[in-house]
Amino acid sequence: MARKTHALIDLDALRANYALAKTHAGAADVIAVIKADAYGHGMVEVARALQNKATVFAVAFLDEALTLRENGIKEPILLLEGPMDRSEIAVARANNCWLMLHTPQHLAWLEPEDIATPNQIWFKLDTGMHRLGLSEDEFLDFWHRQNADLQSNLSDHCVLATHFAKADNDPDFTRQQLISFARVQVLTAMRTSYSNSPGLLIEQIFADIDLPSESFVRLGISLYGGTPDSLLHPVYTAALTPVMTVKAQVLAIRTIAAGEGVGYGQIWQAPTTTAIATVAIGYADGIPRFAANRMYVMFADIALPVVGRISMDMITVDVSAITEEVTVGDMLEVWGTQQRVEQVAQALETINYELLTRLSLRVPRFYS
Ligand code: PLP
Repeated sequence: MARKTHALIDLDALRANYALAKTHAGAADVIAVIKADAYGHGMVEVARALQNKATVFAVAFLDEALTLRENGIKEPILLLEGPMDRSEIAVARANNCWLMLHTPQHLAWLEPEDIATPNQIWFKLDTGMHRLGLSEDEFLDFWHRQNADLQSNLSDHCVLATHFAKADNDPDFTRQQLISFARVQVLTAMRTSYSNSPGLLIEQIFADIDLPSESFVRLGISLYGGTPDSLLHPVYTAALTPVMTVKAQVLAIRTIAAGEGVGYGQIWQAPTTTAIATVAIGYADGIPRFAANRMYVMFADIALPVVGRISMDMITVDVSAITEEVTVGDMLEVWGTQQRVEQVAQALETINYELLTRLSLRVPRFYS
């Protein structure tokens, strides 16, 4: 009999989160960011579930987009990391992929026909994130070198984008990013895209900055029900439903005496007689080794502490609170609806994005 540990992906919750985002996005198209295997949820299944809803998807790079194409996904796909080399521009165009240009080298590769199609070419401005993006000077230098016809093609067809560094916790910094963005946008009159999940609704919050309404928002974590810990719109984030529930199977239960240890290194000793369940999920499945003595798993609404080291395939859990109820073969929730992935992430000093994307492929995903 196969290991029962699995991740359940609730596609109705995904669609509900998408619909909720749409109500907040106003006239903007909501691009579903499905890179990194849709944040661990399964890129092809997520794209299929959102077909007829999302009109554009986004991934990090061309290989991810080609996987979607091989699986019959027809919508335009934005490549967030841009072309890796010049030849990718033609491949991207042939596959209806939109490209985020972000270096002067990318600008040098651009041909007039590349900007003849709506939305195909995006320009990313570095407004403070300092990761990817053209500086204001680099972009304006490019802009001023174009003749009037090309400038008008840029305005009519291309998108000016930026990415927020601290939209979840620093409105002043975000304001500065928007002000720099607006300075360039007003000159070019291009379509715009700047919001990620924590940045959604930002236009209402910074209504005093003279920006045209946004054409595309790029949402990832919130579609999966992950709350981006936003200071800006807690009501929206509270309404999101977790899409992934991870459950792991109890393999064995034993009782150990006070003073006895558990697992590698025996780093945890029982303070009193303790019931220990050995549960079939480990660091090879994506549970960080750092979780030893830090995280909890759930039996219904009862939180049970993970004690001792995380092994490759197993964790050990103090189940003394439920000795009457728990039996071998039971499933414990690692994260999902009883315990949100954000709670686990907080205990492990990381973020929901990391836990979701690191859930290994040997944990089968089941879709409902
Ligand atoms: N836009 C860009 C450029 C990104 O890199 C990402 C994710 O990392 C997103 C949008 C989506 O962000 P979020 O998952 O916070 O919505």
